[in-house]
Amino acid sequence: MTSPELAGFRHLHSGKVRDLYETDDGALLMVASDRISAYDHVLPTPIPDKGRILTQLSLWWFERLADLVPNHVISTDVPPEVSGRALLCRRLDMFPVECVARGYLTGSGLTDYAETGEVCGVPLPAGLVDGSRLPEPIFTPATKAAMGEHDENVSYDAVVATVGEHAADQLRRLTLDVYARARDLALERGIVLADTKLEFGRTPDGEVLLADEVLTPDSSRFWPAQTWQPGRPQPSYDKQFLRDWLTSPASGWDRAGDQPPPPLPDEVVEQTRARYVEAYERLTGDRWV
Ligand code: ATP
Ligand code: MG
Repeated sequence: MTSPELAGFRHLHSGKVRDLYETDDGALLMVASDRISAYDHVLPTPIPDKGRILTQLSLWWFERLADLVPNHVISTDVPPEVSGRALLCRRLDMFPVECVARGYLTGSGLTDYAETGEVCGVPLPAGLVDGSRLPEPIFTPATKAAMGEHDENVSYDAVVATVGEHAADQLRRLTLDVYARARDLALERGIVLADTKLEFGRTPDGEVLLADEVLTPDSSRFWPAQTWQPGRPQPSYDKQFLRDWLTSPASGWDRAGDQPPPPLPDEVVEQTRARYVEAYERLTGDRWV
C-alpha cells in the first residue's frame, strides 16, 4: 500500500484501489492509485499509470454524460504528488445503493438467473447463457457490502424501501440512461459494455449527482466486441492477461489457499498496462501520453 499521507488533507478511507481525503472546506479528494486487484486480492505489484488512466477516463465520461446527469467533480486542481490521478469532488450524502445496469448476462446476474430465472426481481426469458445480450438493459441494484464482503443483489422494491419511491425511480432512470449512452458509444469503438456500477449522492439542497468513478474498467465489464461470443466466459478487456497468468502454473499461486498472490513479472505488468492504455485510447479516441 502507498502511504496515505497527503499534506493539507485529512485521510478518510482507503479502498482496494483508491484513497479518499477530506479538505478543510469539506470537499473530497478522490485519489486513484496504481494498485490493481484480481480475484478479490490487491496484487503486490502496481501497474504504472493505471491511476491516471482511470481518473482521466472517468473524467472523460463525466463530461460526456453531463447533459444526462450532473456530477460531483469540482476540479482537477490537485496536489502535484497525485497530479492526474485525483479529482476534487463535492462531498455528498450517498445513496446506500450500488446502481448497476446490465445489458449482458454474466457474473452474479448469471448466478441469480440460473437459480431463479430472474435478476433482482426482473424476470428474463429462458435459454440465456453466459454473455448473452439481454432483450433490454435492466437495473439490478445491490447493497454495498462491508469491507471484504460481496455486494448483495436486491430487488427494485428493496431500493424503494430504502430511499423512497421518488428517489428509487430517479436512480433507476438515470442508471439506465447513463448505461445506454455509454454502451452505444463503447460499441462504436469496438468495446462491449456488459454492465456498469454507478453511485449517486445528494447535495444539501436535494440535487442528485453522479458520484464516485464512472465507466472505468474497475466499475464496469468491458469486453472486446470482436471476440464476444455468448455461451462461455468472455475475456475481460483489461485484466484477462493478468488473470490468465495468476491461474497458470507459472505464477505458482494457489488461488484456493490463503496465501497472497505473488509479485507480477515485468511482462505481465507491461501487457496489463498496455490494455488500460488501449481501452483509454479506443474509448476516447485520444492518444495516451
Ligand atoms: P473497493 O475497493 O471495494 O471499491 P471501497 O468501496 O471501500 O472499496 P472506494 O471505492 O475507494 O473503496 O471508496 C470510495 C467511497 O467514496 C465509496 O464509499 C463511495 O460511496 C464514496 N464516494 C464516492 N463519491 C462520493 C462523494 N461525492 N461524496 C461522498 N462519498 C463519495
Ligand atoms: Mg468502491
